[in-house]
Amino acid sequence: MRSRLAAVGAAALAAVLLAPPAVASAAGPGAAPGADAAPARLISAHPSPEEVGRALARIARESDGRVRLGVAGRSNEGRPLRVATVGHGPTRLLFVTQQHGDEPLGTPAAVRALWALGVPNTAWHRWVRSRVTLDIVVQANPDGAVRDQRYNHDPSASGDYAEPGVGYDINRFHNPLTPIADNPVPESRAILRWWHAHEPRIVVDYHMQGRYLQPDGRETTASMLWPTTTLADAAAVDAGRQLAVRNYDAMTHIARANVTRYPGGDYEGIARNAYGILGSASLLVELSNLPPDQVEFQIRSAFVSMIATVQGAADRTIWRIDPARADTIPARGPSLPDDATAAAPAA
Ligand SMILES: [Zn+2]
Repeated sequence: MRSRLAAVGAAALAAVLLAPPAVASAAGPGAAPGADAAPARLISAHPSPEEVGRALARIARESDGRVRLGVAGRSNEGRPLRVATVGHGPTRLLFVTQQHGDEPLGTPAAVRALWALGVPNTAWHRWVRSRVTLDIVVQANPDGAVRDQRYNHDPSASGDYAEPGVGYDINRFHNPLTPIADNPVPESRAILRWWHAHEPRIVVDYHMQGRYLQPDGRETTASMLWPTTTLADAAAVDAGRQLAVRNYDAMTHIARANVTRYPGGDYEGIARNAYGILGSASLLVELSNLPPDQVEFQIRSAFVSMIATVQGAADRTIWRIDPARADTIPARGPSLPDDATAAAPAA
């Protein structure tokens, strides 16, 4: 029974995700059928916190409650840190979007993924939801989002990883070795507390980066990295590397993304490292900040990453991947020159 259901799942992944370029929509290099099935205007590419709230409420309603809404905490200005949950299976996953308020595209991708996993009710969807429970902290930095800024809003912020008069860099305050009560950043505290309450097997954190060229002259559309801190144990690092390979394969072959390794640091306050130290398979995904006509392509890339991660967790194929394959993900190339950014093709 299990293998038959797994086969059903594998076939359905193709049905949900595989969109040959020949049938691509006019909106971009190809929107997944699962995404196409969602209402065209679920949410904008740069949504306000209110728009996120309205889109999630609509999905909760249209899914007949299969997508459940909650809050992980409050921002410094009192905005809800929204968490949407779909599925009721034993394997728990946590995705986080928009910790940096000016890096929005993971948020519309998350809204689309929640719709695609929660609203349709086929055998495949019921199977996935029986295997995994996915929580998404959607727009983890609403105060930064309304200001289109990296930091949270805290004019009293001081010390390392703070911008005086502006706020803190939320993605430097996940250090699991710091007592949560001593952590000055409410958004980071909320995510850490959520982790401890649910101990997700997988954590994926969605960001955006600048623009870069690959060695072959194509433009990088996304980069990714697993935990690199020496404080994470080898099993957790290997699990993060397996997750990276799963995402690399899906984003490359299904979304047609040009993916590299992200040259990130070892600091344990970075979510990618922190949740690896705590034992999760942890991954950072960075979407490049491509021109406006590539925004739909980038949202779809993140959507494909999310669905492929959920599918691979549900059928457990992620854990059969050789983690050494992560070493074959190419290094990120040089920054695109500023004067070329207007004209350079994305792919
Ligand atoms: Zn970022």
